[in-house]
Amino acid sequence: MPCQDRCALGCIDRLEDWLYQRGYCKLIFGFLNRFMKQLGNALVFAVYILTAVITFTSYAILLPYEQKYQSPWILSIYAAVGFYFCISIVYHYTMARTLPPISNHGKEGDKWCSKCANWKCPRTHHCSVCQKCVLGMDHHCIWVNQCVGTHNHRHFFMFIFFLSFTTIMIAWVGFNTIYDHVFEVRYLTEYFYCTTTLDYAPLQTWICDQGELARNLIIFVYLLCALLILLVGGLTLWNVYLITKGFTYVDYLLSQLKMVRYFVEEKGWDGRTIGYRNPYDLGWRENWRNFLGLRRNRTFWRHVLLPSGHPPIIIDEKGDPESVLVVEQV
Ligand SMILES: [Zn+2]
Ligand SMILES: [Zn+2]
Repeated sequence: MPCQDRCALGCIDRLEDWLYQRGYCKLIFGFLNRFMKQLGNALVFAVYILTAVITFTSYAILLPYEQKYQSPWILSIYAAVGFYFCISIVYHYTMARTLPPISNHGKEGDKWCSKCANWKCPRTHHCSVCQKCVLGMDHHCIWVNQCVGTHNHRHFFMFIFFLSFTTIMIAWVGFNTIYDHVFEVRYLTEYFYCTTTLDYAPLQTWICDQGELARNLIIFVYLLCALLILLVGGLTLWNVYLITKGFTYVDYLLSQLKMVRYFVEEKGWDGRTIGYRNPYDLGWRENWRNFLGLRRNRTFWRHVLLPSGHPPIIIDEKGDPESVLVVEQV
C-alpha cells in the first residue's frame, strides 16, 4: 500500500487511539457501542416484521384489489416476480446479518491495531462496535447489526438491490389501489377493498372485520415503499458507483481525505490526478466480477440471480484476483 494510504489511515487511527485512551471517552464510547448493538437487535426484528407486513398487504389486499383494473395473467406475473424478490430479500438479508465479514490478522510489518493488539492486513479497519478488525470494511450497519465487509458485502448489496426493485414494483402495480383508498374512498364507497366483491381474496372477510385495517395497511405500505425507494434506492445507486470504482465506503472516505490533504499541501484541486489512485480498481468489469465472485466457472444466472452462498474473490494490494487470502474467522 502506498505511503499516502498509510498516512491517511494513520491519522484516523491515531485520533481514535487518542480518544480511546481518555477515560471518559472510553466510557462514552463503551456506552454508545453497547447501545448500537442493542438498537441493532431491535432493528433486525423490525426488518423481518416490516417485510412480513409488506408481503401480507401485497398478496392479501393489493394484488386482489388490482383485478378491478388489470388482467389476471398480468397480476399472476407480478405475483410470481414478487415471490422471487421476497425470497431473495429474506435470503440475502439473513446472510448479510449472520455471515461475519473476514477478520484475518495481518503479518508483522503491517499496520498495528492497538485495540485488537494485533497486526492488520491492508484494507482492514477496526470497528469499535463489533470490537474487531474487518477486512474490506464498508461500514457498520445497524440494520444488519454487524459490519459490512468482505464476505457479507455482496449479500448486503443484493439485499438493497432487490429491496429497491420490490418497492418500485409495489408502487407501480398498486397505484390504482392507493389512489382509490386515498382520493376516491370518501366519495365512491364502491371503490374500496371492503365494499367490492373480489376473487382471489380469501382473507377479505377477516381483514374487513378489523375495521379500517385494509385502508391503513395500504397507506402505510405505500408510504413505506416511497420512503424506501428514496433511501434504499439512493443507497443502491451509491453502492453501484463505489463497486464500479473498486471502492469500499472506507476507501472512498480515505480518497477524499487525500484530496483535502493535497489541497492543503499542494494548494490545488489536482488530488484526483496526482493524489489517490485506488490500487484495487481493476476496471469496472473486473471490479464487478470480483465483487460478485464470478470466477471459477460461476455464472451470473446461477450465482447472482439465484440465492447463492459462494465466497467472495479477494484481491491483494497488487491487484491480483487469484491471490486468495486465507480465510480465518475470528
Ligand atoms: Zn482491531
Ligand atoms: Zn462493526
